[in-house]
Amino acid sequence: MTLALRDPDLFRVDAYIGGEFVSSILRATVRDPATGDVIAEVARCGKFETRHAIEAADDALPAWRALPARKRADVLHKLAALMEEHVDDLALLLTSEQGKPLAESRGEVRYAASFLTWFAEEAPRVYGDTIPSPVSGTRLMVIPQPVGVCAAITPWNFPSAMITRKLGPALATGCTLVLKPAEATPLSALALAVLSQRAGVPPGVFNVVTGAANDASVIGAVLTSDPRVRKLSFTGSTEVGKLLLRQCASTVKKVSLELGGNAPFIVFDDADLSEAIRGAMTAKFRNAGQTCIAANRILVQDGVHDEFVSALRAEIDKLVVGPGTEPSVTMGPLLERNGFDKVASHVEDACSRGAELIVGGGAHDLGGTFFQPTLLTGVRHGMLMSSEETFGPVAGITRFTSEEEAITLANDTPAGLAAYFYARDVGRVVRVSEALDYGMVGANTGFVSTTVAPFGGMKESGLGREGSKFGIEDWIERKYVALAF
Ligand code: NAP
Repeated sequence: MTLALRDPDLFRVDAYIGGEFVSSILRATVRDPATGDVIAEVARCGKFETRHAIEAADDALPAWRALPARKRADVLHKLAALMEEHVDDLALLLTSEQGKPLAESRGEVRYAASFLTWFAEEAPRVYGDTIPSPVSGTRLMVIPQPVGVCAAITPWNFPSAMITRKLGPALATGCTLVLKPAEATPLSALALAVLSQRAGVPPGVFNVVTGAANDASVIGAVLTSDPRVRKLSFTGSTEVGKLLLRQCASTVKKVSLELGGNAPFIVFDDADLSEAIRGAMTAKFRNAGQTCIAANRILVQDGVHDEFVSALRAEIDKLVVGPGTEPSVTMGPLLERNGFDKVASHVEDACSRGAELIVGGGAHDLGGTFFQPTLLTGVRHGMLMSSEETFGPVAGITRFTSEEEAITLANDTPAGLAAYFYARDVGRVVRVSEALDYGMVGANTGFVSTTVAPFGGMKESGLGREGSKFGIEDWIERKYVALAF
């Protein structure tokens, strides 16, 4: 199958190492989740290619870090502009490998480009400090320096933005990067490599090692054990994040982790219900529910429960399910069969334990991995869909009585990424915002992602923050220089 790209050169299937596209005999298959068709056979990298990429990144480091920050910023600006220029092609690649509707893919590509612009602007403003010395004849200085060669491992649900959220600060600060994208979505990463070449990112500064799922642990083992790699930035599941954190211990790397969530979405009696419905649709059904910040537990207070459920049902009925490339479609397929099975098992578990199915509940008529948008009531704490990320288009409603009960339920999870609530009482808004143990709280909004604010989780949802002025800190070392004169 060939994709109708305006610029066919953006379609690449080889790994990108040291400024060159490198082929391999072994290939990994990339499929369109909407059709199951093979769309590409990409290079499978292993130990050798990963070491080669680290070597290239290490060789490129001295010249890249020595460039004035403004020059590095110029390159990042160019890369962002190229992403904007090719937004339609990049969106088509993204939808073809990931499944989300084209409008969402275009939004993601623009969001991805915005991290490059943001960090281009931050690059010349990475300041140091001078500390008043307690003794005369000395100057105490703190100078920011790039961490060095860094590794990034990214997931399939946002194949473009999860990369640039790391690439932006890495390149801005003078680090070099070896990226391993997800097996399912290497094409967006490789298109970005093409554009990085055109933008003037020097060879070795940005490298992409692709592979099949079986290769991930091999590539990961090299990236986490090689002493030249000084930092790992990982976005993905909590389980793999914990494994990589352990692996990084042997060489004491800096580690940033953006892991799984289990977001509560609380609707209080005093909420603006139409706004709450709008927010719930975004927080639950965007990307067919396959987001780390997806509303996973919808907690609704007694007084508005029935009204909320019938209004949410009406909105769910409006969703148009189909291949993401069709313009009218608002919800695509799930990425793959394992994810589909997990979603189905969560619905079955809830129904077998007393939840009531209002709409949906299983495979869509379109077949494959298309899942019906689903609404359930009577979901209780302890059911699978309350304790794990469902990662699918299933809204499970739990009824509650008091504010205290809602807070207790919301916080009763090892995850702490995003939480949402709707209320109008000012005291309640402040109390609940502060009581939720989450890195990000949407108060009367179902959308918290923006380049300019810190993205990240508490508890087992991660370490560090990405985006915003805070996102640069994880990519620099603050060296203290004591100067006697
Ligand atoms: P995943 O299975 O953890 O995979 C993420 C990445 O890790 C992929 O590139 C994967 O490669 C790689 N990987 C898997 N096992 C590995 C190993 N042993 N060593 C090294 N790398 C390994 O997660 P996913 O299913 O792709 O993504 C969904 C998860 O990501 C969800 O839990 C979601 O909440 C989370 N997420 C979090 C954020 C955030 O900002 N907090 C954002 C997006 C997603 P392969 O694909 O080749 O197996």
